Amino acid sequence: MSDKNERHKARQEKLKQAVDDKIAKAQTVKGLLIVITGNGKGKSTSGFGTVARGVGHGLKCAVAQFIKGNWECGERELLTRNGVDFHVMGTGFTWNTQDRESDTQAAEEIWLECEKMLQDDTLELVLLDELTYMITYDYVSLERVITALNNRPPMQSVVITGRAAHRELIELADTVSEVRNVKHAFDSGVKALKGVDW
Ligand code: ATP
Ligand code: MG
Repeated sequence: MSDKNERHKARQEKLKQAVDDKIAKAQTVKGLLIVITGNGKGKSTSGFGTVARGVGHGLKCAVAQFIKGNWECGERELLTRNGVDFHVMGTGFTWNTQDRESDTQAAEEIWLECEKMLQDDTLELVLLDELTYMITYDYVSLERVITALNNRPPMQSVVITGRAAHRELIELADTVSEVRNVKHAFDSGVKALKGVDW
């Protein structure tokens, strides 16, 4: 065997040992709180990907979508067909929100559904898509969100998506990923594509 090959083999063995040690040490079993934030594309798709993964393993899953728009209908169709509870914010809160009063009312209604989900110990995985905006706009108080997350069933996992996740949410989470925008087709004038962007 060449020197280069030998060195590669030794390095890989060391790496494998380090990974095996880490796997052996990871003994805690609990539901996870995952936050996917940042300005790049891929937050909601990551959240829905996790739900698809859960459904594939027969987990009982639920989704609350805080921003209603035609861009996210694809996931809804698929998941409701597969027995996933789906709640969408009433008035269709969007980026160019106009009416604070009706938005607050709609946010309150869907958040009450979320509180029920976060108390339901038959639910194993919950996606709160675009929840971060409700906190930013103060449509749902941070305190209520933190309390509900803290009191949820121990084996229930929750995925929260949306830009600019609040610092306290990040502190509370077990896993946090920030999706950074490197480039996006929209900036060069490409239209959002059905099945890819929504
Ligand atoms: P996706 O749903 O594709 O995972 P996302 O959840 O990360 O995206 P959002 O901020 O929720 O991003 O925006 C949803 C829509 O906006 C999608 O159609 C997505 O392609 C588009 N989008 C996401 N990031 C950007 C960006 N940096 N510039 C322009 N459009 C974006
Ligand atoms: Mg999104």
